[in-house]
Amino acid sequence: MIAGLGVLGVAAAAAGTMAYAVRGRSATLLAPSHWRGPAGRRAIAVTFDDGPSESTPELLDVLDEHQARCTFFPIGRNIERLPEIAKELARRGHEVGNHSYTHSPFYLRHPQFLEDEIAIAQDVVEGVSGQRPVWLRVPYGCRWFGLKDAQQRHGLTGVMWSGNGLDWKKSAKAVHARLKGAARSGAILLLHDGRERTLRPDIRNTIEAVRRLLPELREQGYHLCTVSELLCQKQRSNASSGS
Ligand SMILES: [Zn+2]
Repeated sequence: MIAGLGVLGVAAAAAGTMAYAVRGRSATLLAPSHWRGPAGRRAIAVTFDDGPSESTPELLDVLDEHQARCTFFPIGRNIERLPEIAKELARRGHEVGNHSYTHSPFYLRHPQFLEDEIAIAQDVVEGVSGQRPVWLRVPYGCRWFGLKDAQQRHGLTGVMWSGNGLDWKKSAKAVHARLKGAARSGAILLLHDGRERTLRPDIRNTIEAVRRLLPELREQGYHLCTVSELLCQKQRSNASSGS
C-alpha cells in the first residue's frame, strides 16, 4: 500500500514536472526561453500574437500614435491570407517573430512536425517582412520534445511573457487592468492582434485596452520597445535600413 502510494507520488511529481516543462514560463527542459527582460531599465516589450488580421492596421495606427515599437508573432497561414498587412508590420518599424505556420499545438507531436511548422513560418515571415525571425513564441505557450533542436537549427530563442492580457476572452477594461497590474521594468506583455486563424476576428477589446494603456505607460516613463531591444539582442534583418 505504502509502496503503491510511493509510485503514485512519483508519477504525480513526474506529471507535474512535465506540465511545467511544457508550459512553465521559465522552464528550460524542452527548450530555453525568456519571459522577462532586465529589471534595471525602465522598458516594456508589448507583444502581439496570432495576427495579422483585418484589424491589425487600426492597431498599428494606435502604436504609431504612442511611438511604441513592438514585437509581433504572426501565424504563417494568416500572413499568407493578408500579406500586405503583414508587410506593414516591418514597414512601420516593428519586429516580427515566429509563431508557427498553422498554430497547431506542439504538444504530443513528432519532432518533424515542430521542425516543419517552424521552418515554413521562418520562410513566410522573411518573405513578407525581410526579417528572418530570431524569436519564437510557441502556439499556446506549449513546448514539446524536439523544440530545443529546432530552435537551434533556426537560430531561434523562445519568448514567453510576464503579463498576459487574456484578450481573447476578457473585456477591454479587464485586459487593461491586467496589463496595468503587470507593468514593471523588464515586463513582456502578451496580447493578440488576431484570434488564432479566425477570419475577420473582433479585436476591438484589444485595441481599446492598448489605446488606454500605452499613454499611461509612457507617462510612467516606460520605453515601449521590441523584444530584441528589451533583451539587448541585435535583431537580424535583411531589410534595407532607413526605408
Ligand atoms: Zn497564438
